Amino acid sequence: MKSKLIAGNWKMNGSLAANQALVEALIVGFAQARCGVALCVPAPYLAQVQSLIAESRIDLGAQDVSEHVSGAFTGEASADMLREFGVRYCLVGHSERRQYHTETDAVVAVKAQRALAVGITPIVCVGETLAQREAGETELVVKRQLAAVIHANGHCISEIAVAYEPVWAIGTGRTASPAQAQAVHAVLRAQLQAATPHADRVHILYGGSMNAANAAELLAQADIDGGLVGGASLKPVDFLSIIAAAQ
Ligand code: PEP
Repeated sequence: MKSKLIAGNWKMNGSLAANQALVEALIVGFAQARCGVALCVPAPYLAQVQSLIAESRIDLGAQDVSEHVSGAFTGEASADMLREFGVRYCLVGHSERRQYHTETDAVVAVKAQRALAVGITPIVCVGETLAQREAGETELVVKRQLAAVIHANGHCISEIAVAYEPVWAIGTGRTASPAQAQAVHAVLRAQLQAATPHADRVHILYGGSMNAANAAELLAQADIDGGLVGGASLKPVDFLSIIAAAQ
């Protein structure tokens, strides 16, 4: 059985001093952990965090990657650039990128392709809005989002990770129940199984107000292979409790 993966998404938070304190606290507490841990940090802090975690088992993650390889795309960072900083994971299609930067399923699929091409595991984020859930469209939405990535990435699809993040649960303190989350994860696993004989290798993470109190029950579900953690990843005690729940 593969070990679980807990990825922290710092979003646009941090400072040189705060990052150092947070990472040092995590390294001390993480020493015994048997699951994978990644920190998806803002791009300006990649070099700092790369150096801070160099002697630890924590992996470095980015929060986005350009859909382009290089050239006149001001403000963007390419997959090659991320790779130079030792990035192992990269979020693609986070709902905040889809919402505020109008990223389409097609763009997200290309971003996943760019990451895979340089050996970075894209964590493909999918999830429905509250209106879509209430309209009974959850399955339709997440399958459409994942289908674009499967279509664009063919046989490499077993190399991705997926994060199911119901938009209504992100940063709201409102978590999907373990049963609600498991039901969607099972749908995503079946979709991957139809695309690759290696679907069991794919980590399917749950994200959306995961915290120290609810992590264990969510992580105990059959198809929940880890967590994508926003707010709680900025608090070392909380993040370490989630990591402990994933053992
Ligand atoms: C996220 O940003 O991916 C996330 C899950 O945030 P939070 O844990 O704060 O809901």
